[in-house]
Amino acid sequence: MTANENRIAAIASITHRSAMPVEMPQPLSKIWACDVFNLAAMEDSLSKSAFKAMKNTVQTGSPLDPATADIVAAAMKEWALARGVKFFSHIFYPMTNITAEKHDGFIITNADGGAMTEFTGSLLIKGEPDGSSFPNGSLRMTAAARGYTAWDPTSPAYIMHTANGATLMIPSVFMSWTGEALDKKIPLLRSNAAMDTAARRVLGLLGETDIAPLNSSCGAEQEYFLVDAAFANARPDLLLTGRTLFGAAPAKGQEFDDHYFGAIPERVQVFMQDFEDKLYRLGIPAKTHHNEVAPGQFEIAPYFEAANVAADHQQLMMTLLKSTAKAHGFLCLLHEKPFAGVNGSGKHVNWSVGNSTQGNLLDPGKTPDDNLHFLLFCGAVIRGVHLYGPMLRAVIASAANDHRLGANEAPPAILSVYLGDQLEKVFMDIKEGKIEAATKGGMMDLGLSQILTFERDPGDRNRTSPFAFTGNRFEFRAVGSSASVSGPLVAMNTMLADSLNWIADELEPAIAATENQTAAVIVVLKKLMETHGNVVFGGNGYSPEWHKMAVEERGLKNLPTSADALPELCSDAVKTLFSSTGVLSPLELQSRFEVYSEQYILSIEVEAKLAIEMATTLIYPAAMQYLASLASASVGMQQLGITLDHSIARKVAQHTDAMQAAVAELGAALEQHGFASIEEHMHHCAYVIRPLMDAVRVQADLLETQVADDCWPLPKYRELLFIK
Ligand code: ADP
Ligand code: MG
Repeated sequence: MTANENRIAAIASITHRSAMPVEMPQPLSKIWACDVFNLAAMEDSLSKSAFKAMKNTVQTGSPLDPATADIVAAAMKEWALARGVKFFSHIFYPMTNITAEKHDGFIITNADGGAMTEFTGSLLIKGEPDGSSFPNGSLRMTAAARGYTAWDPTSPAYIMHTANGATLMIPSVFMSWTGEALDKKIPLLRSNAAMDTAARRVLGLLGETDIAPLNSSCGAEQEYFLVDAAFANARPDLLLTGRTLFGAAPAKGQEFDDHYFGAIPERVQVFMQDFEDKLYRLGIPAKTHHNEVAPGQFEIAPYFEAANVAADHQQLMMTLLKSTAKAHGFLCLLHEKPFAGVNGSGKHVNWSVGNSTQGNLLDPGKTPDDNLHFLLFCGAVIRGVHLYGPMLRAVIASAANDHRLGANEAPPAILSVYLGDQLEKVFMDIKEGKIEAATKGGMMDLGLSQILTFERDPGDRNRTSPFAFTGNRFEFRAVGSSASVSGPLVAMNTMLADSLNWIADELEPAIAATENQTAAVIVVLKKLMETHGNVVFGGNGYSPEWHKMAVEERGLKNLPTSADALPELCSDAVKTLFSSTGVLSPLELQSRFEVYSEQYILSIEVEAKLAIEMATTLIYPAAMQYLASLASASVGMQQLGITLDHSIARKVAQHTDAMQAAVAELGAALEQHGFASIEEHMHHCAYVIRPLMDAVRVQADLLETQVADDCWPLPKYRELLFIK
C-alpha cells in the first residue's frame, strides 16, 4: 500500500467524471417563483379584503391582524398541501452565519384515529424552538433558555424540496422571551426603520411632502471555489475547516489568468444552470455568473432586491450552493481564503436606499433637485464611514476574513471611501468653499448627472477600495464570502440613519437662516466635509504608502485582525449609535460582541487542533516513510561501494524536526487557559496561535516539495485547483 492511494483513486474517479445533467430544463416562465407564496399567489387564493390587508403589511411592514393571519395561514396551507408539502418550519438566522429550522407537521389526528391537517394564524406567526441551543452571549442570563420565532411577512414563505418530500419554510425573526434580538433579521428590520425615519426628516426639510416608505436595497456578488469531491474528501482540513491548513504552492497558479478569461468548464456550467433553476423556483433573480481570478473560483450575482429579502435569499443561496455542488460531485468552498497564495473570496455588498416617490437617493439623477438629494445622502455615507469605520471593520470580522483582508488582492482592513475622480472633486470643492450656492431658478445645477454617467463604466473603477461609490450605489467590498450580508447592511443603514439625523439637525437652522435651500445644503455639506473628508481616498488602497498615510496623516484606524476589530463593537460611540437609533440595545450589542468573539476563538482553536493532528498523523509519517526508504537505499548502495549524496535526506530530516518542534509549541499554546478577558483570549489566538500554525505549515509545505509523491497522502494544490 502506498500513502498516496487516496489521491490515485481520486484521480481515477475524476478521469471518468462528466457533466451531470439533472432534468429537462424548463422555461423560465414555468419555473419563476413557482415555489413561493408571494403576493401573486396570495392574490389568487385570498379574498379581496384579506389580500389588501396582506399587501399593506408586505409593503409597509405594518402588523397583521389575527383574523387576517388565520385567513392567510389557511390559504398558505392549501397552497402548500397541493404541492406535496406535509411539514412546515420557521426558518431563522441566529447570530452565526448559518440558518436554523424546526420542522412541524401540518398533521393532527381526530378521535377516530383519522389524519387531518391544521395550520392557524398563530402557528404561522409564532414558533418556539429551544432558544438555549443557539448562541446568545450574555443574553443567556437575562433571557433564560426560551426563545421564539415570529413570521416576517415582508419575506415570503417558500417550499424547499428534497427527493422525497417538501417543506414549507416561513422566514422568521428569532428573539428571546423578553424580546431581545437573538438573530440577524431583527436588527436589519430595525435599521431599515431607523433609516426611513431619518431620511424622511431630511427629505421633509427639502420640501418633499409625498414620501413613500424608504427601503435599503442589496445586490450581493458571491465568490466561491469548487473542488472535486474525490479530492476534497481526502482533505480533513477542507472538510472540517473549509480551507487548506497545508499545501505547497503549485508550479502553475493563477499567473496566466487563463481561468479568469477562459470558458466556464462544462461540468461547472451544468452545475450553475441546475443551481440557478433552483433559485428561479424560489424567486431569486440570479443574474450573472462567471469564472473568477483564481483557478477553481467562480462568482454568482443576483439582481438586487429589498435588503431584507436579499439577505434571506443570500442565506438560501449559500445553502443551495453547497447542496447543489454536492449533487454534482463538488465541494463548494465559501471560505474567504481556502488556498494560501491564491486569491481569496469576498462578497461585494452593493447597497443603496430609496423609495417609489423620490427614487434611488444614491443616484445623482437627472435634475438639480435629484442632485441635491444625492449630495446629501452621499455626504451622509461619507460621514458614516468616517465616524464608524472601525464598526464597519468589526461587522466583517471573522477568523476566515482575517486571511483575506489586507492580502495583496483584497481590500485593506482600513475603511476609506472611494468616490471616483469627478465626484471626489465636487466634494472637495464643497469642502474648500469653491462651490458657491449660485442658483439657477432657485436650484443649483452641479451637472452631476452628466458628470457621473460615464463613471458608471466599471472599466475604470478603483477596485482597491473597501467601500466604493459605483455610480448609483455603494459597494462594500471587504465583506467575506461566507458572511451573512445582514451585519454589513445593518451597519450601513444605521450609520446612514445617524448621519441623516445629524444632517437634519444642521439643515433646519441653516435653512431658516438663509431661506435658500441649496445654499443651506452646501453650508451643511461644507461642515461635514471639513470634519469627515479625510476618509475619502481615490488612490491605491493596497499600497504600503496608503497604510502609512491613512493611519499617520488621516487618523484612520488599521485593524488588521478580528481580535483588534471586534472590541470596537463595545466602544461608547458604537453603543450610542445603536441605542440612539433603536437598532440594538447596549445589552443586545454586548451579546453580539460575545457571540462573534467566541466564534472567532473557536474557529482558530479547531483549526489549530486539526493542524496538530494532520501534522502528526499524516505529514510526519509520510516524511518518516520517505526517510526510511532513502536510508535503506543508501545502505544498499553502500554495500555496492557507492556513496550517495544525502542532501535531500538531510533536508527532509531537518524540516521534520522543525515541524515537530513547532507542533509542540502550538500544542503548549493551545493548552494556555485562564485569560483575564475575552479580548485577551482573542489576542492570544491572533498573535500566538495563528503564527505558530504558520510555523508548522511552513515546514510541512517544504516537506511536500521534498518528499516522494507516492508517500504524500494529501491531494496537492495542483490537483485541488484545476477542475477536470
Ligand atoms: P460588478 O462585478 O461590476 O461589480 P455585478 O453585475 O457583478 O457588477 O454586480 C453588481 C450588483 O449590484 C448586482 O447584484 C446588481 O443587481 C447590484 N445593483 C445594481 N444597482 C443597484 C442598486 N441601485 N442598489 C443595490 N444594488 C444594485
Ligand atoms: Mg463583480
